[in-house]
Amino acid sequence: MPRVANPLTKVRKRLEACCFAEVNFKNLAKDKDRPSDPDKHRNFYRSRVPIQREIVPAADEALDIACERLGIDREIVHGFVESDPKMGATCSYIRGNAVVSMTSGAIERFTIPEMTYVFGHELGHYIMPDAGLCNLLPNGDPASMEDAITYRKLEISMDRFGMVACQDYKVAAVAFLKLHSGLGAQHITDDVVSYAKEAIKGYVQDHTEYFQEAFTTHPSLYARIRALSHFAESEEFLKLIGKKGGKSHAEVDVEVAKDLHATLDYYASKLMDDVIYDVNNHLAAAQVHFEGRCEVSRYDVHPQIKPEENVIKAILGEIQKAPADKRDEDVHTRLDGLIRHAIQRCPYRMTAHLEALLPKLADTKFNENAQKFALRFKEYLIRYRSGEQI
Ligand SMILES: [Zn+2]
Repeated sequence: MPRVANPLTKVRKRLEACCFAEVNFKNLAKDKDRPSDPDKHRNFYRSRVPIQREIVPAADEALDIACERLGIDREIVHGFVESDPKMGATCSYIRGNAVVSMTSGAIERFTIPEMTYVFGHELGHYIMPDAGLCNLLPNGDPASMEDAITYRKLEISMDRFGMVACQDYKVAAVAFLKLHSGLGAQHITDDVVSYAKEAIKGYVQDHTEYFQEAFTTHPSLYARIRALSHFAESEEFLKLIGKKGGKSHAEVDVEVAKDLHATLDYYASKLMDDVIYDVNNHLAAAQVHFEGRCEVSRYDVHPQIKPEENVIKAILGEIQKAPADKRDEDVHTRLDGLIRHAIQRCPYRMTAHLEALLPKLADTKFNENAQKFALRFKEYLIRYRSGEQI
């Protein structure tokens, strides 16, 4: 059989500007475009109204425009209306074709250009599938806080595809305000500056407040709107819409990264530091418990996260509270609990930390226990990523 050129290769080449940081086409999984079950969305034709010019004209027009501006053949895009008063859209099943749905609540409230923006974002998920970019659990959730950070970068990239589709920053921003508030044009303005001034009040110093949010797949609306305004001023975007001038891709990415950091990534990073700090001090305490001594300086492997003698002593004090014959078990239970935290928050950082720490313990009697800890961490990680409860 003659080899058929992948139509997305050309699309990706043209839309390189939509990539953000390590979320780029080079890092996609090798088999990213492998078609999945071709009949998987057939039930949509039975349960949803297809987006067709004769049936849902405004949405169909928006989908046509989005496809044209992104350079995707409309024939391979299957649109559906999801009957739901809430506003939302999804790129549900990806096979050789793209299957996008938009809720009735969104179609009712969006203008055609706003729908074009949202369809552009969704088609971005077809152009740049998440496979290979980050680890997801079988239920589709990011496998860790670290993976959620990468997924949020992917969403920034998707928003850029949306911008290429609608070509207008203000349109994209209003679409976002509508999506976020659930309001229609009658009740919401396009004053994103006033919105940003209020939204930033939600970010305070206490990082523990952001535990749940640190796992979310989407960046804060504040960061997304600002990211769009930066992208709207980029050289590449202006070129795509036939204009000249603008900032470089790298300059824009630096600004976007700053906003992601200020709104969620900073807090997530603190939550990860907490785990590395706990593991480090608990391993040192475990060494004292099993070996009778430990050189605290051996645990000094991270530039910011230092082992602390008083914390190690406090952990030992806690261990002493258990009956003498239960203390070994208590130490293992504590370490297992920390393995779970590390897997959910920062498996990549934890792996790097153990790789730096273990050689420093190689000549101690505690080495065997430390190696077992690292092995358990690896085993639990594999089980967790395959969807098992750990
Ligand atoms: Zn998305």
